[in-house]
Amino acid sequence: MRILIAEDDPVLADGLSRSLRAGGYAVDVVTTGEEADTALTAQPFDLLILDLGLPKLSGLEVLRRLRARNSKVPVLILTAADSVEQRVRGLDLGADDYMAKPFALSELEARVRALTRRALGASQSVLRNGALALDQAGRVAMINEQPLELSARELGLLEVLLQRAGRVVSKEQLVDHLCEWGEEVSNNAIEVYVHRLRKKLEPGGIRIATVRGLGYCLERVAAEAANDAPAVGPAQPGAVPPGAA
Ligand code: CA
Repeated sequence: MRILIAEDDPVLADGLSRSLRAGGYAVDVVTTGEEADTALTAQPFDLLILDLGLPKLSGLEVLRRLRARNSKVPVLILTAADSVEQRVRGLDLGADDYMAKPFALSELEARVRALTRRALGASQSVLRNGALALDQAGRVAMINEQPLELSARELGLLEVLLQRAGRVVSKEQLVDHLCEWGEEVSNNAIEVYVHRLRKKLEPGGIRIATVRGLGYCLERVAAEAANDAPAVGPAQPGAVPPGAA
């Protein structure tokens, strides 16, 4: 999940980006409306956190241009506590939610999770596939209710794949969702992360298949099969054996 924060208050921007990064999100920060507009034109984001009081170009104008380009990226606007009018205009222009300053970080994080979830069409905050469960709220993944030890990057990677279980995700998409500007993440690095994640998932019968030339696919496990699945055992029938990919 990659988030753009457009906020000119450095303390707030810093606090927001720290807490979201700790939750496994990739975060980019811009401090003017112009920069926000440029970034949104150039790059796909999973969520925009938009301060309405931005220099150079107002947050409302950034939002208007974004929706005029038919972008569906979820937008959470940040407004001053007393600006009911701005809030209403923001929602009318296509913002999905708002928070009035000052706000609790924990509430913002909950709204971020709700918006990214809604954008992907899911209503639960726990993503499941077979014995695997990823609690987006608690930022923890479990196999058969046993927590997995994952780095923030591995958790982020797993989240992107799990949200698209059964579908192929390209390395470029993974880089877009996981990496921030200035980060040099090569396709090789992505392969390393996938390799590590695979080793942690395979004991639970969860497989990440390599689709040669296209990317990766977290194989979908049928719900009924999951109930009968052994805690530790071979991958599901029909799965490509390890090393074949
Ligand atoms: Ca501001």
